Amino acid sequence: MKKQLQVMKFGGTSVGDPSCISRAAKIIVDAARDYRCVAVVSAMSGVTNRLIEAANHARTGNGAEATAILEALRKQHETALVSLIPHEKDREGIRRKLEEVLAEGRRLCEGTALLRELTPRTLDAVSSLGERLSAPLVAAAVKETGAQSEAIEATELIVTDAFHGGAEPQMQLTRKKSQARLRPLLEKGIVPVATGFIGATVEGQLTTLGRGGSDFSATILGAALDADEVIIWTDVDGVLTADPRLVPEARTIPEISYREAAELAYFGAKVLHPKTLNPVVQAAIPVWIRNSFAPERPGTKITPEGRSIGGGVKALTAIRDVTLISVGGPGIVGLPDVVGRTFSTTAELRANVLLISQSSSQNDICFIVASADAQRTVEALRKEFAQDLAHQDVEHITVDPNIAIVAVVGENMRGIPGIAGKTFSALGRDGVNLIAIAQGSSESNISFVIEEKVVKTALRTAHREFGLNAAS
Ligand code: ASP
Ligand code: MG
Repeated sequence: MKKQLQVMKFGGTSVGDPSCISRAAKIIVDAARDYRCVAVVSAMSGVTNRLIEAANHARTGNGAEATAILEALRKQHETALVSLIPHEKDREGIRRKLEEVLAEGRRLCEGTALLRELTPRTLDAVSSLGERLSAPLVAAAVKETGAQSEAIEATELIVTDAFHGGAEPQMQLTRKKSQARLRPLLEKGIVPVATGFIGATVEGQLTTLGRGGSDFSATILGAALDADEVIIWTDVDGVLTADPRLVPEARTIPEISYREAAELAYFGAKVLHPKTLNPVVQAAIPVWIRNSFAPERPGTKITPEGRSIGGGVKALTAIRDVTLISVGGPGIVGLPDVVGRTFSTTAELRANVLLISQSSSQNDICFIVASADAQRTVEALRKEFAQDLAHQDVEHITVDPNIAIVAVVGENMRGIPGIAGKTFSALGRDGVNLIAIAQGSSESNISFVIEEKVVKTALRTAHREFGLNAAS
């Protein structure tokens, strides 16, 4: 019988230093005894940020600073190489590969410094270097630990559109390409170690899937290869009932549905790339979230149905670093296209809208975007509504960055009356003021906007109220 196929992803902290890489390699080699395995890796933690910094230095003409960052990264990866691979002769090929990637980085930064222009395409090329450096190291560590392995750049596997910085996969083409490239390796018992985060257009131009995109890479490959399961190895125990840094009583949820997981956005302390579950839903491939620092713990299994627990509320999530934008004034009541224009503006920017609320008086529309997107969103809106603002049809476009979203999530909340009531009266009792509220008609998520400084109180109150502290 053919062995089952596992796609496993290791995030930045799970390959953050040589001892983490050894731990990841051991997990891979153990799994490779019983499964056909494909590993997907992130850059070593912090590396992508450093690369983006280097690119920005180059953009301002500071090529020297960019080169210094690349040099520091070279040293970091060289140290890891030396510590992971004991024999000098085994290091040579990998070192050559790392040098090639770094040389490409230097050329990209030199060009950028010369032009003082950083295009999204160049930024993608620079930010992809971290994965292109970590994959050869992980593959080497896997070999050293006792399984055959080969590092593969995902430009050879994942086909995307040309939206740099947040490309969308084209699944049919990706299927063809990744099967053709990976099947022969798997047949021979070789573990491919693919770079997360990156893909390429049909023409072969490198793209990235957006920050944190390696999770998405793993499920894209899982779906493309008809994997039996995808395991996201990270630095937390799984999906938690709340962020344990804010709610010490939070605990790991053994099983959760795709929908619930998607509603959570933040799994306790950990963020999954928002598109992570999209590729696997149709094929119903289970996705595990497990802790690479404690592989003996079972983690959380994300499945089509999840597993119901009493009460309906499964978990809470808080999203910070978000900004509330409102477009409004009494004048907008009669304007039929304010909503349409507002959201075509955000769509054009590909600004991710996290929550929308409009009261039936239609006096204003408020919505929330990541703070990183706030400024350009507001600028674009002011431009879009310039005429209306001048004529006072639209009175204001305001911005409030000091807020957070808290959501109460559970698929089985559907049809259970009183959950919103219970939530809001508990919050009221504890003095938490609600700025805006939204519940989608799927009824699996009740979200509310509060001042950022009361997030902890709100979470702890709701956690207690729904009995999430108790054992499952
Ligand atoms: N290295 C990329 C990032 O930091 C992708 C990832 O880690 O998932 O955004
Ligand atoms: Mg990450």
